[in-house]
Amino acid sequence: MRNWLVLLAAMIAAPGAAQQPAPAPPPKLLVVISVDQFSADLWDEYRPHFTAGLARIGSGAAFRNGYQSHAATETCPGHSTILTGDHPSRTGIIANNWIDQGVKRSDVSVYCAEDETVPGSSSSAYTVSPAHLLVPTLGELMKAARPGSRNVAVAGKDRAAVMMTGHKADQRWYWTGQKFETDLKSAGVPKTIVQANASIAKALLEYRQPMTAPAFCQGKARPVAIQNSEKTVGAGLFARNAEDQAAFRASPELDGDTLAVAAGLIDELQLGRGSDPDVVAISLSATDYVGHTYGTEGEEMCLQLLELDREIGDFLALLDSRGLDFAVALTADHGGLDIPERMQLAGVKDAARVDPGLAAGTMGLKLANRLGISGFGLIGESAFGDMYIDRNLSAKDQKRMLTAAVAAYKAHPQVAAVFTADQLKATPVATTPPTQWSPIQRARASFYPGRSGDFVVLLKPDITPISDASRYVATHGSAWDYDRRVPVLFWRKGMAAAPSDAVIETTDIMPTLAAWLGLPLAPGSVDGHCLPTVALCSATPVARTERGR
Ligand SMILES: [Zn+2]
Repeated sequence: MRNWLVLLAAMIAAPGAAQQPAPAPPPKLLVVISVDQFSADLWDEYRPHFTAGLARIGSGAAFRNGYQSHAATETCPGHSTILTGDHPSRTGIIANNWIDQGVKRSDVSVYCAEDETVPGSSSSAYTVSPAHLLVPTLGELMKAARPGSRNVAVAGKDRAAVMMTGHKADQRWYWTGQKFETDLKSAGVPKTIVQANASIAKALLEYRQPMTAPAFCQGKARPVAIQNSEKTVGAGLFARNAEDQAAFRASPELDGDTLAVAAGLIDELQLGRGSDPDVVAISLSATDYVGHTYGTEGEEMCLQLLELDREIGDFLALLDSRGLDFAVALTADHGGLDIPERMQLAGVKDAARVDPGLAAGTMGLKLANRLGISGFGLIGESAFGDMYIDRNLSAKDQKRMLTAAVAAYKAHPQVAAVFTADQLKATPVATTPPTQWSPIQRARASFYPGRSGDFVVLLKPDITPISDASRYVATHGSAWDYDRRVPVLFWRKGMAAAPSDAVIETTDIMPTLAAWLGLPLAPGSVDGHCLPTVALCSATPVARTERGR
């Protein structure tokens, strides 16, 4: 735990923690943790090595087969499912960025947690906002039912904080690369934030010594060269140069500070001490940055996950010391895939980096040339996912381009499937277990008309959609289970250990927590289902109001 937090806690007069009463539902404080890019593969691999916070949370109802069921397994869509109970096809958060050719600015890429109608906002320098989130969150539902309830988030990324709190939040703070900031300007700046930002700024000025790896992590240390780059990863110990912001966030440092801010806000705002229950959502981003920067199977991820376990343990111990009646849910926004170079060494022959020729711009120009059409032809964010036909083309040329592009992607050996918007519109959202979903059903759960592309491209398994590894070496975002399957853990004091292989969805978390809080939802009002092995699901349900469908 951070030293500054210990000092701050002493400054904030905590009321005397009386004898802790036997926990009775609903809990006074709901702690919902998302560990960014924490795949169920990593959970399975590291579970025996966790001894602190992750071991404790994993000692409750622990589902190792949770699913972010949709195809576009990115941070924004993933976080949008956790506390709304809905798939991206209902939350409207189809990707981190999508293309809007009708937007009134030259930048047609729109960020998921942006209000693009604010003058000056762009996809890279955006105005943070929940405007795109089409359904309410659990925190909003709590506030509607119990006006004293507070809805708070702390996160390593703005989109995580926004998607877990929604339109009516009391406080949300996120790391922006320089400091913790908020889009809720009227909420004031808590002392915790001032203290954390000052402390981190000071720490960043100094070189950080390499960590000492335990023997278990040393066993994973093997340098692996990344193709077409100067990089070698696999045996890093997180030494950091002064003022290296990127190295700070791709290390255990960021999560430690995020948890310390959450703990500080719980004290300062007296969360969990009012007559109505509060929710604090915490998104820990370092696992994701470590995965992107070093891959998932080296010494770096090993150190990151053991530190994460320790930091979460310290955080929970602090809540214990305050005598709070709290309950925890922990999951991830998506999983992840290791670097293809190390996968090949491990015998995964199909592991490869994507052909740069599949990038929307490159493919669009090639096809436009062939068809005798001027302009880009195709617009997209990447070499897969949502693809958009240039609206500046005549209706006839748009049709020609769509036909040619679908055929060209389908013919490529790295492409698994291509679905048009018309095909997706005609596909109902699946209600069977997510392990049984076909590729088009996965893509359908990521489809929202007006935001989604004219067609969507799914790459084959084990294809890493990064051809140029100069920034990141590994990623996620596919429709395959290494990116879809995540742990879903529920813990409350006194809860019997219940490890489970049952297949559930991250959309089940919200209705289950709602039942814990005595706010069960009418069946069918969200995509997810209350888990009867975790909560009493049969109490009188309340209807949930929908937002702007
Ligand atoms: Zn993520």
